[in-house]
Amino acid sequence: MNDSLFQDAKQQLNDAAKYVSISDDTIERLKEPKSRLIVSIPVRMDNGELKVFKGYRVRYDDTRGPTKGGIRFHPNVSIDEVDSLAFWMTFKCAVLKLPFGGAKGGITVDPKKLTRFELDRLSRGYINAIADFIGPDVDIPAPDMYTNPMIMGWMMDQYSIIQRKIVPAVITGKPVSMGGSLGRKTATAMGVFFVMQSLIPKFTKSGKKITVAIQGFGNVGSNLADLLYQAGYQVMAVSDETGGIYSAMGLDIPYIKGFKESTRDLKEVYAKGSVRELMGYEHISNDDLLKLDVDVLVPAALENQITCENAADIRAKVIVEAANGPITREAEKVLEQRGIPVVPDILANAGGVTVSYFEWVQNRMGHYWSEEKIHGLLKEKMTEETRMMWDIATSKNIPMRTAAYVHALNRIEQAVNARGTKVYYTGVDKKGEDV
Ligand code: NAD
Repeated sequence: MNDSLFQDAKQQLNDAAKYVSISDDTIERLKEPKSRLIVSIPVRMDNGELKVFKGYRVRYDDTRGPTKGGIRFHPNVSIDEVDSLAFWMTFKCAVLKLPFGGAKGGITVDPKKLTRFELDRLSRGYINAIADFIGPDVDIPAPDMYTNPMIMGWMMDQYSIIQRKIVPAVITGKPVSMGGSLGRKTATAMGVFFVMQSLIPKFTKSGKKITVAIQGFGNVGSNLADLLYQAGYQVMAVSDETGGIYSAMGLDIPYIKGFKESTRDLKEVYAKGSVRELMGYEHISNDDLLKLDVDVLVPAALENQITCENAADIRAKVIVEAANGPITREAEKVLEQRGIPVVPDILANAGGVTVSYFEWVQNRMGHYWSEEKIHGLLKEKMTEETRMMWDIATSKNIPMRTAAYVHALNRIEQAVNARGTKVYYTGVDKKGEDV
C-alpha cells in the first residue's frame, strides 16, 4: 500500500478549496479524522491455535450526521488506507446529500484463507472490539471489499447480543431477512450505471455501441457488467485478481456471471473460480485490460491501479471510478493533460451508501419499501447530483473530481457554519477586517 494514499486524498480537498469560498474552520476540521480506533482481535482457529488480527475503525467527520462507511477484509488493510477511505466517505455522503459523515473500517486479513467458522468468529470479534465506537446514531458500518450481507448479518447479531436488544440500524447491507433493504446488493453497480447513463453520451459518439472494460468482477464489477450488457453496451473485457478475459465481439456477461456464481461453495461467501477458467475467451492481464482501446474504462477493484507507470498508455475515452481511489494523483495529472476525463469515485460509486441510507431509514421506521421504490429513489438521487456536479464542472471549467469536491464542500461548510463562524463570535472576517 502506498504510504501517501491519505496525503494524496487530502490534496483533492486543497484542489477544490481554490474554487469555493470556504472558511478556515471547515478546512481545519477536515485535515484529520475525528477519531481512530486500532484493535487486536483474538480468534480461536479451527486447529485450536489462537491468532490475533489487527482491526481499524476511523470516524472522519460527523458535522453532517452520524458517520457511515464500509468494513474491508483484505491483506493490505492499513491505517493509511482506512483514513483515506473514511475521508472519501465524508465527501461521498455530502455529494449525495445524505445526512451522514464519513467513516471506514477494516481488518488486515486474507479472508479466503479462513474457514466459515473462523470468518464468523473474526467478524463477531471485530464487533466486540469496536462496539463502544459504533451505533445507529453514532457510526453505522456497511460492506466493502470481501465483506458481504452474511458478514453484516453476523455483525448486527453480535452487536444486538452486546446490547441485549435487536438493533438492525447499527449496520447496513444486511440480508433482507434480517432487516436489509431490497436492492442493496446491486445498489453500487446500479448507481454507477445511472451516472454512466447521464454522462457517457457527453463523451462518446452516438449511433454506435459503447464499448467498456471493467477491472474487478466482484459485487460492483459483475453487477455493473450485467446492467451494461442488458442496456446494450458491449463489455469487451472483465477481470479478477488472477487476470482477465477479452473478446473483440463483446463478452457474454450472464454466462460469465453465472459461472462465477456457480463456483461459490457457500452462498454469499467467496467465489472460488476465476473468470480466466472460462473457455473461448482470450486471456489478458489486469494491466492489459487497463490499456484497452474502449470507450469507457471502469476500475472496480482496488486503489492505485492507474499510476504513472501506465497512465500514458490508457486509451479509453473516459474513466469511471467504480472502485475507491483507483487513480493516483500523479496519474490523474497525466490523464488530464491527455484529455481523458474521470468520473470520480465520490459520485460514481455512491449508490451503495445511498441505498444503505434507505436501509437505515427503513430500520428506524420499521416499515420496508419495494425494490421498485428503492430503484426509483436511487435513480432520482444519482441523476440529480450528477447533474449538479456537471453544472459546477462546466460553469467553472474544472475536472469532474474537483467539481464533486466543490459540491460536497458547499454542503459541509453549511453544517460547520451553522454551529457558529469566526465572524459570528468575533465580528472579524478571514482577512482580519471588521464586519
Ligand atoms: P468484491 O470483494 O465483491 O470484489 C472485488 C473484486 O476485485 C473481485 O472480483 C476480485 O477478484 C477483484 N480484485 C481483487 N484484487 C484485484 C487486482 N489486483 N486486480 C484486479 N481485480 C482484483 O468488492 P466490491 O464490493 O465489488 O468492491 C470493489 C470496489 O468498489 C472497492 O474499491 C470498493 O471500495 C468499491 N466500493 C464498493 C461498494 C459496495 O457497495 N460493495 C460501494 C462503494 C465502493
